[in-house]
Amino acid sequence: MKKFVTAILVFDLIAGLLFLGLQESRGQIPTAGEAAAGEVTAWAGGSSAADGRSGWDKRDVTDDEDVRKVAITFDDGPHPFYTEQLLDGLKERGVHATFFVTGAHAELHPDIIKRMQEEGHLIGNHTYSHIQLRRGNREVFKEELIKTNEIIKEITGEEVEFVRPPYGSWDKSFEKELNMFPVLWNVDPLDWSSSNVSRIVEKIVNKTGENDIILMHDYYDTSVTAALEAIDELMEKGYTFVTVDEILFD
Ligand SMILES: [Zn+2]
Repeated sequence: MKKFVTAILVFDLIAGLLFLGLQESRGQIPTAGEAAAGEVTAWAGGSSAADGRSGWDKRDVTDDEDVRKVAITFDDGPHPFYTEQLLDGLKERGVHATFFVTGAHAELHPDIIKRMQEEGHLIGNHTYSHIQLRRGNREVFKEELIKTNEIIKEITGEEVEFVRPPYGSWDKSFEKELNMFPVLWNVDPLDWSSSNVSRIVEKIVNKTGENDIILMHDYYDTSVTAALEAIDELMEKGYTFVTVDEILFD
């Protein structure tokens, strides 16, 4: 667990000095926030944050010592075609993933949300319209979270507990207000920015270690292909895929 301690120290050091927002999805780079001035914080994802983990998992995962867990997560869907393709591939492999869906896409494809639930995947909130939390839009952002929880609950009958804030911008006080838990990531292959499947696979396989959370997007053909290939390689290396709750709370 040396990696954990080092990562936490490095992360806290970085976080104390500045908050850097890395782009989590296509196109936009969020503005950097100032740690001291506002409540909105952004995390840097991927290797640039030295596998940065925030307060949510500052502890060892010591049970099931012989099982090397890893979680793969998919943001921005459901997509009418690629998500189904991904679900087929996950089913063939007996792998459970975590999907952070937008309310707008969930509304369009409730059948896919239902299928995710039936096949044992975990479903989380990724806001209604993929809005980024900034200073000044807190209430709008909060309304989007609430609206999306309602849309998902309407389909699945279950409360939504987990949220992946777009671009990693988050306000800790939402956790109590909404009884929701933010889920960030520590492996970011930037799958949305490349159409080179083998490069994406290589990035995932090389960067992933025990108890890592991989960030991907079920919105691109290449991402789906790469995710399934990376899953095969990581399973061959002895990893077991679990939903994020098992990484965060077990
Ligand atoms: Zn996103």
